[in-house]
Amino acid sequence: MKKQSIYRPSIGSVSLSAITGLYLVLFLNRTFWGKVHANLAAAPIAVAALYLAISVLFIAFVTAFSAKYVIKPVLIFLVLAASLAAWFTDSFGVLVDPDMIRNAMETTPAEANHLITPGFFLHIVLFSAIPTALILWVRVVHRPILKKLLWNSVTIIGCLLIFGAVAGAYSKDYAAAIRQHRDIVKSLNPVTPIVSATRYFVQAGKEARSVVRPVGTDAKVVPVMSLNKPRVTIIVAGETARAMNFSLGDYGRNTNPELQKRNVLYFPHTTSCGTATATSIPCMFSPFTRASYTHAKGSQNEGLMDVLAHAGIDVTWFDNNTGSKGAAARIPYVDLANSTDPRFCRNGECQDGIFLDRLDDWLNGVSKDSVLVLHQIGSHGPAYHLRYPKEFRKFTPECETAELSNCKDNEIVNAYDNSILYTDHFLSTVIDRLKARSDKIAAGLIYMSDHGESLGEKGLYLHGAPYFLAPEEQKHVPFLLWLDPDFTASMALDKACLAQSTNDPTSHDNLFHSVLGMMNVVTSVYEPKLDVFAGCKRAGPPGP
Ligand SMILES: [Zn+2]
Repeated sequence: MKKQSIYRPSIGSVSLSAITGLYLVLFLNRTFWGKVHANLAAAPIAVAALYLAISVLFIAFVTAFSAKYVIKPVLIFLVLAASLAAWFTDSFGVLVDPDMIRNAMETTPAEANHLITPGFFLHIVLFSAIPTALILWVRVVHRPILKKLLWNSVTIIGCLLIFGAVAGAYSKDYAAAIRQHRDIVKSLNPVTPIVSATRYFVQAGKEARSVVRPVGTDAKVVPVMSLNKPRVTIIVAGETARAMNFSLGDYGRNTNPELQKRNVLYFPHTTSCGTATATSIPCMFSPFTRASYTHAKGSQNEGLMDVLAHAGIDVTWFDNNTGSKGAAARIPYVDLANSTDPRFCRNGECQDGIFLDRLDDWLNGVSKDSVLVLHQIGSHGPAYHLRYPKEFRKFTPECETAELSNCKDNEIVNAYDNSILYTDHFLSTVIDRLKARSDKIAAGLIYMSDHGESLGEKGLYLHGAPYFLAPEEQKHVPFLLWLDPDFTASMALDKACLAQSTNDPTSHDNLFHSVLGMMNVVTSVYEPKLDVFAGCKRAGPPGP
Protein backbone atom coordinates (compact mmCIF):
# COMPACT_ATOMS: atom_id res chain seq x y z
CA MET A 1 0.00 0.00 0.00
CA LYS A 2 1.27 3.43 -0.84
CA LYS A 3 1.89 5.61 2.17
CA GLN A 4 -0.34 8.68 2.06
CA SER A 5 1.72 11.68 3.12
CA ILE A 6 -0.06 14.45 5.02
CA TYR A 7 -0.18 17.85 3.35
CA ARG A 8 2.25 20.22 5.10
CA PRO A 9 2.58 23.80 3.89
CA SER A 10 6.08 25.25 3.72
CA ILE A 11 7.14 28.52 5.30
CA GLY A 12 10.45 30.33 5.56
CA SER A 13 12.07 30.32 9.00
CA VAL A 14 12.17 34.11 9.32
CA SER A 15 8.55 34.41 8.18
CA LEU A 16 7.45 31.88 10.80
CA SER A 17 9.46 33.78 13.44
CA ALA A 18 7.85 37.06 12.41
CA ILE A 19 4.31 35.60 12.49
CA THR A 20 4.92 34.09 15.93
CA GLY A 21 6.38 37.35 17.21
CA LEU A 22 3.34 39.26 16.00
CA TYR A 23 1.01 36.65 17.49
CA LEU A 24 2.64 37.11 20.92
CA VAL A 25 2.46 40.89 20.68
CA LEU A 26 -1.08 41.20 19.39
CA PHE A 27 -2.96 38.26 20.95
CA LEU A 28 -1.29 37.53 24.29
CA ASN A 29 -0.72 41.04 25.63
CA ARG A 30 -4.23 42.32 26.23
CA THR A 31 -3.32 43.73 29.67
CA PHE A 32 -0.14 45.40 28.42
CA TRP A 33 -1.91 47.15 25.55
CA GLY A 34 -4.84 48.05 27.78
CA LYS A 35 -2.44 49.85 30.12
CA VAL A 36 -0.61 51.49 27.24
CA HIS A 37 -3.87 52.84 25.80
CA ALA A 38 -5.04 54.01 29.23
CA ASN A 39 -1.81 55.80 30.13
CA LEU A 40 -0.85 57.21 26.74
CA ALA A 41 -4.36 58.21 25.71
CA ALA A 42 -3.16 61.75 25.07
CA ALA A 43 -0.49 60.59 22.60
CA PRO A 44 -2.16 58.32 20.00
CA ILE A 45 0.80 58.50 17.62
CA ALA A 46 3.16 57.36 20.37
CA VAL A 47 0.79 54.41 20.99
CA ALA A 48 0.77 53.47 17.30
CA ALA A 49 4.56 53.77 17.19
CA LEU A 50 4.81 51.53 20.25
CA TYR A 51 2.90 48.77 18.42
CA LEU A 52 5.56 48.99 15.73
CA ALA A 53 8.45 49.13 18.22
CA ILE A 54 7.30 46.18 20.34
CA SER A 55 6.47 44.14 17.23
CA VAL A 56 9.90 44.58 15.66
CA LEU A 57 11.55 43.92 19.03
CA PHE A 58 9.70 40.61 19.37
CA ILE A 59 10.42 39.69 15.77
CA ALA A 60 14.14 40.36 16.33
CA PHE A 61 14.13 38.23 19.48
CA VAL A 62 12.29 35.29 17.93
CA THR A 63 14.41 35.45 14.76
CA ALA A 64 17.52 34.98 16.90
CA PHE A 65 16.32 31.40 17.45
CA SER A 66 15.46 30.78 13.84
CA ALA A 67 17.79 27.84 13.22
CA LYS A 68 17.26 24.18 12.35
CA TYR A 69 16.15 21.98 15.31
CA VAL A 70 15.92 25.05 17.57
CA ILE A 71 13.14 27.08 16.03
CA LYS A 72 10.11 24.87 16.74
CA PRO A 73 10.86 24.07 20.42
CA VAL A 74 11.61 27.73 21.12
CA LEU A 75 8.46 29.00 19.37
CA ILE A 76 6.28 26.44 21.15
CA PHE A 77 7.85 27.31 24.50
CA LEU A 78 7.21 31.02 23.95
CA VAL A 79 3.60 30.42 22.94
CA LEU A 80 2.95 28.15 25.94
CA ALA A 81 4.61 30.50 28.44
CA ALA A 82 2.85 33.53 27.02
CA SER A 83 -0.62 31.98 26.86
CA LEU A 84 -0.35 30.63 30.41
CA ALA A 85 0.79 33.99 31.77
CA ALA A 86 -1.82 35.82 29.66
CA TRP A 87 -4.60 33.84 31.35
CA PHE A 88 -3.60 35.01 34.82
CA THR A 89 -2.65 38.54 33.80
CA ASP A 90 -5.68 39.18 31.60
CA SER A 91 -8.32 37.46 33.77
CA PHE A 92 -7.12 38.32 37.28
CA GLY A 93 -4.77 41.26 36.80
CA VAL A 94 -1.97 39.13 38.29
CA LEU A 95 1.56 40.11 37.24
CA VAL A 96 3.98 37.21 36.95
CA ASP A 97 6.93 38.45 39.02
CA PRO A 98 9.47 36.19 40.80
CA ASP A 99 7.24 36.01 43.91
CA MET A 100 4.37 34.81 41.76
CA ILE A 101 6.63 32.11 40.27
CA ARG A 102 7.55 31.11 43.84
CA ASN A 103 3.83 30.81 44.69
CA ALA A 104 3.29 28.66 41.64
CA MET A 105 6.24 26.42 42.55
CA GLU A 106 5.07 26.05 46.16
CA THR A 107 1.41 25.47 45.41
CA THR A 108 -0.34 22.17 46.09
CA PRO A 109 -2.22 20.06 43.53
CA ALA A 110 -5.53 20.83 45.29
CA GLU A 111 -4.87 24.56 45.06
CA ALA A 112 -3.81 24.32 41.44
CA ASN A 113 -6.95 22.33 40.60
CA HIS A 114 -9.12 25.34 41.41
CA LEU A 115 -7.35 27.30 38.71
CA ILE A 116 -8.03 24.65 36.05
CA THR A 117 -11.53 25.84 35.15
CA PRO A 118 -13.46 25.42 31.87
CA GLY A 119 -12.48 29.00 30.99
CA PHE A 120 -8.80 28.20 31.55
CA PHE A 121 -9.12 25.06 29.46
CA LEU A 122 -10.77 26.93 26.58
CA HIS A 123 -8.11 29.64 26.75
CA ILE A 124 -5.31 27.08 26.56
CA VAL A 125 -6.91 25.30 23.58
CA LEU A 126 -7.45 28.55 21.68
CA PHE A 127 -4.25 30.35 22.50
CA SER A 128 -1.67 27.61 22.88
CA ALA A 129 -2.88 24.24 21.59
CA ILE A 130 -4.02 25.54 18.18
CA PRO A 131 -0.92 27.72 17.52
CA THR A 132 1.31 24.87 18.73
CA ALA A 133 -0.40 22.46 16.36
CA LEU A 134 0.11 24.91 13.50
CA ILE A 135 3.81 25.32 14.33
CA LEU A 136 4.23 21.55 14.39
CA TRP A 137 2.30 21.15 11.16
CA VAL A 138 4.23 23.49 8.88
CA ARG A 139 7.46 22.52 7.16
CA VAL A 140 10.09 25.18 7.93
CA VAL A 141 12.34 26.11 5.04
CA HIS A 142 15.87 27.05 6.15
CA ARG A 143 18.40 28.81 3.92
CA PRO A 144 21.94 27.37 3.59
CA ILE A 145 23.87 28.17 6.75
CA LEU A 146 25.91 31.21 5.61
CA LYS A 147 22.98 32.80 3.82
CA LYS A 148 20.84 32.13 6.88
CA LEU A 149 23.33 33.82 9.21
CA LEU A 150 23.40 36.82 6.94
CA TRP A 151 19.62 36.99 6.45
CA ASN A 152 18.85 36.52 10.18
CA SER A 153 21.40 39.19 11.09
CA VAL A 154 19.95 41.64 8.57
CA THR A 155 16.45 41.01 9.92
CA ILE A 156 17.50 41.38 13.55
CA ILE A 157 19.62 44.49 12.99
CA GLY A 158 16.89 46.05 10.83
CA CYS A 159 14.30 45.41 13.53
CA LEU A 160 16.54 46.81 16.26
CA LEU A 161 17.22 49.94 14.21
CA ILE A 162 13.49 50.54 13.79
CA PHE A 163 12.97 49.90 17.50
CA GLY A 164 15.75 52.33 18.39
CA ALA A 165 14.39 55.02 16.10
CA VAL A 166 10.83 54.77 17.48
CA ALA A 167 11.93 54.51 21.11
CA GLY A 168 14.16 57.54 20.59
CA ALA A 169 11.46 59.58 18.91
CA TYR A 170 8.85 59.02 21.62
CA SER A 171 11.15 58.38 24.58
CA LYS A 172 9.65 61.28 26.54
CA ASP A 173 6.10 59.92 26.32
CA TYR A 174 7.17 56.37 27.16
CA ALA A 175 9.47 57.32 30.03
CA ALA A 176 6.81 59.48 31.67
CA ALA A 177 4.17 56.76 31.40
CA ILE A 178 6.53 54.06 32.69
CA ARG A 179 7.76 56.19 35.57
CA GLN A 180 4.22 56.69 36.79
CA HIS A 181 2.99 53.17 36.02
CA ARG A 182 5.78 50.69 36.45
CA ASP A 183 3.24 47.89 36.00
CA ILE A 184 3.08 48.64 32.26
CA VAL A 185 6.45 47.01 31.60
CA LYS A 186 5.75 44.30 34.18
CA SER A 187 2.73 43.15 32.20
CA LEU A 188 4.66 42.62 28.95
CA ASN A 189 4.25 38.99 28.07
CA PRO A 190 6.13 36.57 27.92
CA VAL A 191 9.10 38.80 28.74
CA THR A 192 8.13 39.26 32.39
CA PRO A 193 7.28 35.60 33.14
CA ILE A 194 10.51 34.37 31.52
CA VAL A 195 12.71 36.94 33.28
CA SER A 196 10.87 36.24 36.58
CA ALA A 197 11.27 32.47 36.27
CA THR A 198 14.98 32.85 35.53
CA ARG A 199 15.46 35.14 38.53
CA TYR A 200 13.47 32.77 40.75
CA PHE A 201 15.52 29.69 39.79
CA VAL A 202 18.88 31.50 40.14
CA GLN A 203 17.81 32.71 43.60
CA ALA A 204 16.41 29.31 44.64
CA GLY A 205 19.70 27.67 43.61
CA LYS A 206 21.70 30.11 45.73
CA GLU A 207 19.39 29.64 48.72
CA ALA A 208 19.56 25.84 48.45
CA ARG A 209 23.35 26.02 48.82
CA SER A 210 23.34 28.36 51.81
CA VAL A 211 23.49 27.43 55.50
CA VAL A 212 20.89 28.61 58.03
CA ARG A 213 22.36 31.03 60.57
CA PRO A 214 21.24 30.54 64.21
CA VAL A 215 19.30 33.47 65.66
CA GLY A 216 18.65 34.31 69.32
CA THR A 217 20.57 31.41 70.82
CA ASP A 218 20.81 33.48 74.02
CA ALA A 219 17.01 33.48 74.44
CA LYS A 220 15.62 32.82 77.93
CA VAL A 221 12.17 33.00 79.50
CA VAL A 222 11.87 35.29 82.52
CA PRO A 223 9.96 32.98 84.88
CA VAL A 224 6.71 34.13 86.48
CA MET A 225 7.18 33.02 90.09
CA SER A 226 3.59 33.44 91.22
CA LEU A 227 2.05 31.45 88.35
CA ASN A 228 1.63 27.74 88.93
CA LYS A 229 0.55 26.72 85.43
CA PRO A 230 2.07 26.75 81.94
CA ARG A 231 1.65 29.76 79.66
CA VAL A 232 0.29 29.03 76.17
CA THR A 233 0.22 31.25 73.09
CA ILE A 234 -1.69 30.23 69.97
CA ILE A 235 -0.57 32.07 66.85
CA VAL A 236 -3.19 31.84 64.11
CA ALA A 237 -1.56 32.68 60.79
CA GLY A 238 -4.53 33.71 58.65
CA GLU A 239 -4.92 33.27 54.92
CA THR A 240 -6.18 35.88 52.46
CA ALA A 241 -8.32 37.71 55.05
CA ARG A 242 -8.46 41.42 54.35
CA ALA A 243 -9.10 44.02 57.00
CA MET A 244 -11.78 45.89 55.09
CA ASN A 245 -14.14 42.89 55.37
CA PHE A 246 -13.78 42.57 59.15
CA SER A 247 -16.63 44.18 61.08
CA LEU A 248 -14.25 44.49 64.05
CA GLY A 249 -12.79 47.19 61.79
CA ASP A 250 -15.45 49.23 60.08
CA TYR A 251 -17.03 46.84 57.58
CA GLY A 252 -20.76 47.48 57.28
CA ARG A 253 -21.66 43.78 57.30
CA ASN A 254 -21.43 41.85 60.51
CA THR A 255 -18.72 39.35 59.61
CA ASN A 256 -17.39 39.04 63.19
CA PRO A 257 -20.50 38.27 65.26
CA GLU A 258 -18.70 35.81 67.54
CA LEU A 259 -15.36 37.55 68.06
CA GLN A 260 -17.31 40.68 68.90
CA LYS A 261 -18.48 38.91 72.07
CA ARG A 262 -15.07 37.68 73.13
CA ASN A 263 -13.27 40.73 74.39
CA VAL A 264 -10.58 40.77 71.73
CA LEU A 265 -8.28 43.69 70.96
CA TYR A 266 -8.39 44.58 67.27
CA PHE A 267 -5.66 46.59 65.51
CA PRO A 268 -7.38 48.29 62.58
CA HIS A 269 -4.29 49.74 60.88
CA THR A 270 -2.17 46.69 60.12
CA THR A 271 -0.22 46.12 56.92
CA SER A 272 1.27 42.94 55.53
CA CYS A 273 4.87 42.24 54.56
CA GLY A 274 3.97 40.75 51.19
CA THR A 275 0.94 40.13 49.03
CA ALA A 276 1.33 36.35 48.81
CA THR A 277 1.75 33.47 51.28
CA ALA A 278 5.25 32.55 50.09
CA THR A 279 6.50 36.05 50.93
CA SER A 280 4.39 37.01 53.92
CA ILE A 281 4.66 33.87 56.06
CA PRO A 282 8.48 33.65 56.14
CA CYS A 283 8.66 37.44 56.58
CA MET A 284 6.16 37.49 59.49
CA PHE A 285 8.10 34.83 61.36
CA SER A 286 11.51 36.35 60.59
CA PRO A 287 13.32 38.83 62.85
CA PHE A 288 13.43 41.30 59.93
CA THR A 289 11.16 44.20 59.13
CA ARG A 290 9.52 44.48 55.72
CA ALA A 291 12.02 47.19 54.81
CA SER A 292 14.99 44.92 55.44
CA TYR A 293 13.47 41.54 54.55
CA THR A 294 14.46 39.57 51.46
CA HIS A 295 13.49 35.99 50.69
CA ALA A 296 17.17 35.01 50.87
CA LYS A 297 17.59 36.59 54.34
CA GLY A 298 14.43 34.85 55.51
CA SER A 299 15.62 31.44 54.37
CA GLN A 300 19.19 31.92 55.62
CA ASN A 301 18.28 32.91 59.19
CA GLU A 302 16.38 31.14 61.91
CA GLY A 303 13.04 32.69 62.82
CA LEU A 304 10.56 33.14 65.64
CA MET A 305 9.86 29.45 66.22
CA ASP A 306 13.60 28.73 66.55
CA VAL A 307 14.16 31.57 69.02
CA LEU A 308 11.25 30.33 71.16
CA ALA A 309 12.73 26.83 71.05
CA HIS A 310 16.14 28.21 72.12
CA ALA A 311 14.35 29.73 75.13
CA GLY A 312 13.12 26.27 76.12
CA ILE A 313 9.52 26.84 75.04
CA ASP A 314 7.62 23.92 73.51
CA VAL A 315 6.86 24.86 69.88
CA THR A 316 4.63 23.13 67.31
CA TRP A 317 3.17 24.07 63.91
CA PHE A 318 -0.12 22.70 62.56
CA ASP A 319 -0.60 23.42 58.87
CA ASN A 320 -3.81 23.46 56.86
CA ASN A 321 -2.23 25.44 54.05
CA THR A 322 0.66 24.87 51.66
CA GLY A 323 3.35 24.49 54.31
CA SER A 324 5.26 26.78 56.65
CA LYS A 325 7.55 28.21 53.90
CA GLY A 326 10.54 27.42 56.10
CA ALA A 327 9.15 29.01 59.29
CA ALA A 328 8.71 25.58 60.90
CA ALA A 329 11.62 23.83 59.18
CA ARG A 330 13.34 22.91 62.46
CA ILE A 331 10.41 22.31 64.82
CA PRO A 332 7.63 19.69 65.19
CA TYR A 333 5.28 20.09 62.24
CA VAL A 334 1.92 18.45 61.55
CA ASP A 335 0.44 18.58 58.06
CA LEU A 336 -3.35 18.58 58.32
CA ALA A 337 -4.05 19.76 54.77
CA ASN A 338 -3.77 16.18 53.52
CA SER A 339 -6.16 14.74 56.10
CA THR A 340 -9.08 12.64 54.89
CA ASP A 341 -11.58 13.34 57.69
CA PRO A 342 -14.89 13.47 55.75
CA ARG A 343 -16.33 16.08 58.16
CA PHE A 344 -13.88 18.72 56.90
CA CYS A 345 -11.98 17.39 53.89
CA ARG A 346 -12.86 16.94 50.26
CA ASN A 347 -10.78 16.60 47.07
CA GLY A 348 -7.44 16.94 48.79
CA GLU A 349 -8.14 19.96 50.98
CA CYS A 350 -9.75 20.64 54.35
CA GLN A 351 -11.74 23.39 56.00
CA ASP A 352 -10.17 24.89 59.12
CA GLY A 353 -12.40 22.82 61.44
CA ILE A 354 -9.78 20.11 60.86
CA PHE A 355 -7.61 21.83 63.48
CA LEU A 356 -10.00 21.49 66.40
CA ASP A 357 -9.67 17.85 67.49
CA ARG A 358 -5.91 18.09 67.16
CA LEU A 359 -5.93 21.32 69.12
CA ASP A 360 -7.81 19.64 71.98
CA ASP A 361 -5.29 16.80 72.08
CA TRP A 362 -2.42 19.25 72.00
CA LEU A 363 -3.89 21.47 74.75
CA ASN A 364 -4.55 18.43 76.94
CA GLY A 365 -0.88 17.50 76.62
CA VAL A 366 0.57 20.91 77.53
CA SER A 367 3.02 20.54 80.41
CA LYS A 368 5.24 23.63 80.04
CA ASP A 369 5.26 27.06 78.37
CA SER A 370 4.19 26.44 74.76
CA VAL A 371 3.52 28.16 71.47
CA LEU A 372 1.38 26.56 68.78
CA VAL A 373 0.91 27.93 65.27
CA LEU A 374 -2.29 27.20 63.36
CA HIS A 375 -1.67 28.05 59.70
CA GLN A 376 -5.16 28.33 58.23
CA ILE A 377 -6.57 27.91 54.73
CA GLY A 378 -8.82 30.81 55.78
CA SER A 379 -10.28 32.60 52.76
CA HIS A 380 -8.02 31.17 50.09
CA GLY A 381 -9.47 31.79 46.64
CA PRO A 382 -10.69 31.60 44.03
CA ALA A 383 -12.95 28.83 45.43
CA TYR A 384 -14.05 30.83 48.49
CA HIS A 385 -17.26 28.78 48.69
CA LEU A 386 -15.30 25.66 49.61
CA ARG A 387 -13.76 27.26 52.71
CA TYR A 388 -16.81 27.05 55.00
CA PRO A 389 -19.56 24.58 55.92
CA LYS A 390 -23.17 25.10 54.78
CA GLU A 391 -24.18 26.72 58.10
CA PHE A 392 -22.03 29.72 57.20
CA ARG A 393 -23.87 30.57 53.97
CA LYS A 394 -25.21 33.75 55.47
CA PHE A 395 -24.49 36.14 52.61
CA THR A 396 -26.21 35.00 49.41
CA PRO A 397 -26.27 34.54 46.47
CA GLU A 398 -22.70 33.30 46.65
CA CYS A 399 -20.28 32.55 43.85
CA GLU A 400 -20.11 28.76 43.80
CA THR A 401 -17.36 28.25 41.27
CA ALA A 402 -13.66 28.92 41.04
CA GLU A 403 -14.36 30.52 37.64
CA LEU A 404 -14.73 34.05 38.98
CA SER A 405 -15.59 35.44 35.55
CA ASN A 406 -18.89 33.50 35.73
CA CYS A 407 -19.91 35.32 38.92
CA LYS A 408 -21.01 38.85 39.60
CA ASP A 409 -18.72 40.81 41.92
CA ASN A 410 -21.35 40.88 44.70
CA GLU A 411 -21.58 37.05 44.56
CA ILE A 412 -17.80 36.82 44.87
CA VAL A 413 -17.89 39.17 47.86
CA ASN A 414 -20.72 37.15 49.44
CA ALA A 415 -18.73 33.91 49.23
CA TYR A 416 -15.65 35.69 50.52
CA ASP A 417 -17.57 37.21 53.45
CA ASN A 418 -18.95 33.79 54.36
CA SER A 419 -15.36 32.55 54.57
CA ILE A 420 -14.53 35.46 56.90
CA LEU A 421 -17.59 34.53 58.96
CA TYR A 422 -16.20 31.02 59.30
CA THR A 423 -12.79 32.34 60.36
CA ASP A 424 -14.65 34.44 62.97
CA HIS A 425 -16.26 31.25 64.23
CA PHE A 426 -12.99 29.32 64.07
CA LEU A 427 -11.03 31.90 66.08
CA SER A 428 -13.84 32.15 68.62
CA THR A 429 -13.90 28.37 68.99
CA VAL A 430 -10.14 28.32 69.63
CA ILE A 431 -10.59 31.05 72.26
CA ASP A 432 -13.40 29.02 73.90
CA ARG A 433 -11.21 25.92 74.05
CA LEU A 434 -8.49 27.96 75.72
CA LYS A 435 -10.97 29.46 78.19
CA ALA A 436 -12.30 26.00 79.04
CA ARG A 437 -8.84 25.11 80.34
CA SER A 438 -8.18 28.24 82.35
CA ASP A 439 -7.63 26.12 85.50
CA LYS A 440 -4.72 24.36 83.79
CA ILE A 441 -3.13 26.99 81.53
CA ALA A 442 -2.75 30.76 81.14
CA ALA A 443 -3.55 31.47 77.51
CA GLY A 444 -3.26 34.08 74.79
CA LEU A 445 -4.12 34.11 71.09
CA ILE A 446 -2.68 36.29 68.36
CA TYR A 447 -4.20 36.33 64.88
CA MET A 448 -2.74 37.98 61.80
CA SER A 449 -3.63 37.38 58.18
CA ASP A 450 -0.80 36.86 55.71
CA HIS A 451 -2.16 39.26 53.06
CA GLY A 452 -5.45 40.56 51.72
CA GLU A 453 -7.36 39.96 48.50
CA SER A 454 -8.73 41.88 45.54
CA LEU A 455 -12.39 41.12 44.88
CA GLY A 456 -12.86 43.02 41.64
CA GLU A 457 -11.80 46.49 42.83
CA LYS A 458 -9.89 48.27 40.03
CA GLY A 459 -10.52 45.19 37.88
CA LEU A 460 -8.21 43.06 40.05
CA TYR A 461 -8.90 39.66 41.58
CA LEU A 462 -6.98 37.38 43.96
CA HIS A 463 -3.65 38.65 45.32
CA GLY A 464 0.08 38.62 44.66
CA ALA A 465 0.49 42.05 43.03
CA PRO A 466 4.04 43.42 43.32
CA TYR A 467 4.07 45.25 46.66
CA PHE A 468 4.80 48.72 45.29
CA LEU A 469 1.79 48.44 42.98
CA ALA A 470 -0.48 46.41 45.23
CA PRO A 471 -3.78 48.03 46.18
CA GLU A 472 -4.81 48.56 49.79
CA GLU A 473 -7.14 45.52 49.55
CA GLN A 474 -4.15 43.20 49.23
CA LYS A 475 -1.95 44.81 51.95
CA HIS A 476 -4.33 45.85 54.74
CA VAL A 477 -4.81 42.82 57.01
CA PRO A 478 -6.70 41.96 60.20
CA PHE A 479 -4.69 41.58 63.42
CA LEU A 480 -6.23 40.77 66.78
CA LEU A 481 -5.35 39.57 70.26
CA TRP A 482 -7.10 37.72 73.01
CA LEU A 483 -5.50 37.28 76.45
CA ASP A 484 -6.99 35.62 79.51
CA PRO A 485 -6.63 37.36 82.90
CA ASP A 486 -3.82 35.13 84.19
CA PHE A 487 -1.87 35.50 80.95
CA THR A 488 -2.35 39.29 81.05
CA ALA A 489 -1.09 39.34 84.63
CA SER A 490 1.86 37.11 83.80
CA MET A 491 2.99 39.67 81.21
CA ALA A 492 2.65 42.50 83.73
CA LEU A 493 0.44 44.03 81.06
CA ASP A 494 -1.80 47.03 81.49
CA LYS A 495 -4.63 45.99 79.18
CA ALA A 496 -6.34 49.37 79.26
CA CYS A 497 -3.12 50.96 78.05
CA LEU A 498 -2.86 48.38 75.25
CA ALA A 499 -6.49 48.98 74.28
CA GLN A 500 -5.67 52.65 73.81
CA SER A 501 -2.71 51.90 71.55
CA THR A 502 -4.59 49.69 69.08
CA ASN A 503 -5.17 52.59 66.72
CA ASP A 504 -1.44 53.02 66.17
CA PRO A 505 -0.13 51.68 62.86
CA THR A 506 1.00 48.05 63.13
CA SER A 507 2.33 45.51 60.64
CA HIS A 508 3.85 42.08 60.17
CA ASP A 509 7.06 43.66 61.52
CA ASN A 510 5.46 43.39 64.97
CA LEU A 511 4.74 39.65 65.08
CA PHE A 512 8.23 38.35 65.88
CA HIS A 513 8.90 40.79 68.72
CA SER A 514 5.35 40.81 70.12
CA VAL A 515 5.29 37.02 70.51
CA LEU A 516 8.65 37.19 72.32
CA GLY A 517 7.04 39.88 74.46
CA MET A 518 3.99 37.68 75.13
CA MET A 519 6.17 34.80 76.23
CA ASN A 520 8.45 37.03 78.38
CA VAL A 521 11.48 35.99 76.34
CA VAL A 522 14.67 38.01 76.71
CA THR A 523 17.22 37.82 73.90
CA SER A 524 19.60 40.14 72.11
CA VAL A 525 17.47 39.97 68.94
CA TYR A 526 14.35 41.29 70.69
CA GLU A 527 13.46 44.88 69.78
CA PRO A 528 11.00 46.41 72.24
CA LYS A 529 9.97 49.15 69.82
CA LEU A 530 8.47 46.48 67.55
CA ASP A 531 6.66 44.72 70.43
CA VAL A 532 3.08 46.04 70.61
CA PHE A 533 3.03 45.18 74.34
CA ALA A 534 6.29 46.81 75.38
CA GLY A 535 4.89 50.29 76.05
CA CYS A 536 2.16 48.87 78.28
CA LYS A 537 4.12 46.50 80.51
CA ARG A 538 4.59 47.61 84.07
CA ALA A 539 8.21 48.18 85.03
CA GLY A 540 10.08 45.64 87.06
CA PRO A 541 10.07 41.86 86.83
CA PRO A 542 6.85 40.41 85.43
CA GLY A 543 4.47 38.86 87.90
CA PRO A 544 0.83 39.09 88.82
ZN1 LIG B 1 -1.68 33.56 51.62
